[in-house]
Amino acid sequence: MIQFTSKGIYCIPGNFYLDPWQPVDLAIITHGHADHAHLGMKNYLCHHSTVGILQRRIGRDIQVQGVAYNDPIHINGVKVSLHPAGHIIGSAQVRIEYKGKVLVFTGDYKLQDDGLSIPFEPIQCHELITESTFGLPIYRWDPITTQNDRLKNWILSNQSNKKTSVLIGYSLGKSQRILNAVADMGTVYVHESIAKLNEVYTNEGIKLPSYQVIDLKMDTKHLERQIVLLPPALLDTRLIQKIPSLAYAICSGWMQIRGARRWRSADAGFPISDHADWDGLLQAVRESNAEKVYVTHGQTAVFAKYLNEIGIQAEEVKTDFGNEEDIQTVFTETQP
Ligand SMILES: [Zn+2]
Ligand SMILES: [Zn+2]
Repeated sequence: MIQFTSKGIYCIPGNFYLDPWQPVDLAIITHGHADHAHLGMKNYLCHHSTVGILQRRIGRDIQVQGVAYNDPIHINGVKVSLHPAGHIIGSAQVRIEYKGKVLVFTGDYKLQDDGLSIPFEPIQCHELITESTFGLPIYRWDPITTQNDRLKNWILSNQSNKKTSVLIGYSLGKSQRILNAVADMGTVYVHESIAKLNEVYTNEGIKLPSYQVIDLKMDTKHLERQIVLLPPALLDTRLIQKIPSLAYAICSGWMQIRGARRWRSADAGFPISDHADWDGLLQAVRESNAEKVYVTHGQTAVFAKYLNEIGIQAEEVKTDFGNEEDIQTVFTETQP
């Protein structure tokens, strides 16, 4: 039913692709992150809430059809439906059914409920294509309340030291989570690229706390002791130096290990991730009841090997998906 091609994951009877990285006629897109939603597709199909993100990131004039979760459509005799992936707004797993056989492509996902995206829904299938970005046993996330408490305590100590708390997080998904978590600690100032994506959330009826938009080219004196939310790309610019007496923290799953050179200059790191951790990946695989698992993204070799060891037939698959939380991506992210 599925073929892994140089353009992307191809559904043979349906004649469509899942998150292809080369131009094709019909692309089913799991979510709006740049490594999954590429330019140049003749037709896009995605969840309703992803439509606005694709239009913003790819172009207003794209051919795009939005569908709801759990609302099957038929494409060339293949039954296709989208199901919540809990990763970011509109993120979906794709369920494909043909002649009694079911395959699920997870896209990116997490099992923790971040309070903003619709929580991950386990789906039974014969074959599962899962991501494995954090597919190493060292990656285990704390409960979200614990993560948020740490963040808040750090802000509190900055406030008592007369410092401005600067939080660095990916602009789509992560930033809205952080905003939601820290809004009761003071005025939150967000970079305009984040504000634009906040609008996508509010347009979709997801309530976000109030915030101010900052222009770092203007006077920044008023930011003193406040909370500032910036996308990773800003770290490499001089603009960040304009923020008075700042302490900055990076929010990413990679902060679980403080090994990477670039991280060390940060004042703090918070392992807050929109991906499943080791236990989450295993749980999702088990709950799918799949006879065969294909592993993409990140730690494919380790995770596939482990699944085989515990008696689940698995194979790693090479795809072009990156990772928005990746060290490289985090520092090269451009405007949405
Ligand atoms: Zn993603
Ligand atoms: Zn991804």
